This record gives sequence, structure tokens and C-alpha cells, in this order.
Amino acid sequence: MKIRVLGCHGSDQLVDGGLGPHQCRTCGFLINETVLVDAGTVGPTLRLAEQKRIRHVLLSHLHFDHIQGLPTLADNLVDEVVEPVVLTSIPEVLKGLQSHVFNGEVYPDFLQLPDPQHPIFVFRPLSVGKEQEVSGLRVIAIPVNHQVPTVGFFIREGQSTLLYSGDTAETEEIWKLAARTPTLKAALIETSFPDAMAELARVSKHLTPSLFAREFRKIGRPDLPVYVYHLKPRFREQIRRELAQLKIPNLTVLEEGQEISI
Ligand SMILES: [Zn+2]
Ligand SMILES: [Zn+2]
Repeated sequence: MKIRVLGCHGSDQLVDGGLGPHQCRTCGFLINETVLVDAGTVGPTLRLAEQKRIRHVLLSHLHFDHIQGLPTLADNLVDEVVEPVVLTSIPEVLKGLQSHVFNGEVYPDFLQLPDPQHPIFVFRPLSVGKEQEVSGLRVIAIPVNHQVPTVGFFIREGQSTLLYSGDTAETEEIWKLAARTPTLKAALIETSFPDAMAELARVSKHLTPSLFAREFRKIGRPDLPVYVYHLKPRFREQIRRELAQLKIPNLTVLEEGQEISI
């Protein structure tokens, strides 16, 4: 399985890094060129030909930083539709997209356009806890603990499984399933704020480095390759320092443009 990082931060921002300016973008991960996991970033990083190859979009939740690429994806594909792109998530998320985004007011209803027989998007509801086939991958959605209905995903291809946490605070079920998934090869886990902002993390239901460490331990695999994402760009350097102090052996903080193979 090949994972390409289009965006991996909790907000869009140009930041100054050691090697010059770096563009942080909101979450979007392209798997095997055809499945997009969250749609925070699409158009700014993918050529039209690459956007046309996307068959499914797995959405963890409805927050704007995870869906903001969908309207422009629809625009870019509007005269290119061969087959609709399948927006795949729990029913609450799909219902929210229809009533709050593609409602003919905020944006055109691309579930009916350009013509109801051949729309840009179709919906596919996911039942939680059940393995389902998505573009050749096996996907299980597990609810996590966030401000709105949110799921993380187990995404398996053959004998390799990737865990994607979604936005979450302290949670249990997803780690329990991770602990009993022998094919688990890597985990993408969110961390949004530095430890000093634990109170904001608590009310917004996100993790800090200390909270991340506590959650990660629940998997019981200290050597599992773990990729931390969803850092708020403003606190990036501080969060990176705090994560480094945890001394977790195979921890990587994700960057835009990175590719992972498992
Ligand atoms: Zn988010
Ligand atoms: Zn969120």
C-alpha cells in the first residue's frame, strides 16, 4: 500500500522552517492513487489527471479541515465525469455534506449535477465495525471521541493494515482493535496542541504529545511505526520537541509530500 501525504496539518498555513518556508495544509492522504482519506487538501497538490484517478473518498468526519477539498474537486471534474466519485463515510457525515455543503446554497448539489444520472459524487454509507471493500482495499470504520460523529479507519491491503485515527481525544475501541490486528503495519495518529494547551485540547477533543503517548501505549506495540499528524501549524516546533522527548522508537512527524509504503 502506498500512502501519499497531500496535507497533514490541523490548518492551512505557510510557516518558517529550518529549510525555508513550508506550506502546511489540512488533512488529505492518497492511497494507491485511487482512494483519498479525508479531503482537506486535493486541488492544490494534485494535477487534474491525478484527481481524475480518485474513485473513493473516505471521510472521517464533517469538520471543514477534512472536507474543504471536495467542492473544488467537483468543479475540476465537472466536464470529466466518467464514473462518479464515491464519498464513503458514516451516515451522519454524508447527511451533513448534503444539508450543509452541497445544498444548492453554499455550493451546487454535485450529487445531482451535472445530471442526476451521471453526478460527480455518489454517497456510500459505512456501517461501523464491519469490513467493507473500497476500491480493492478492506476498510473498517471505528467511532472515536471527537466533538462531532467521527470515525477512524483500518485500511487493509493483503497482509498490510494501516490505522488512521481521525481527530480524537482519549478513546478505547480503536486501540483495542489495533491490539488484535496482527497485520497492522503502521498507524497515523493525531496530535494537535502542545502540552501547555491541554485545556484547549480537552474542550476541542484533540490530543497533546503526553495524551498521544498514553493513547499509543494502549496498542501495546511500542515499536509500531507511528506517524503523527494534524499538528496545528502555529505550534508545530513546540509539538515536535515534545514528541521527540517521548523517545518512541519509530515515531515520525508527517510532512506534506511524504510517501509511506507498507
Ligand atoms: Zn481536523
Ligand atoms: Zn475535527
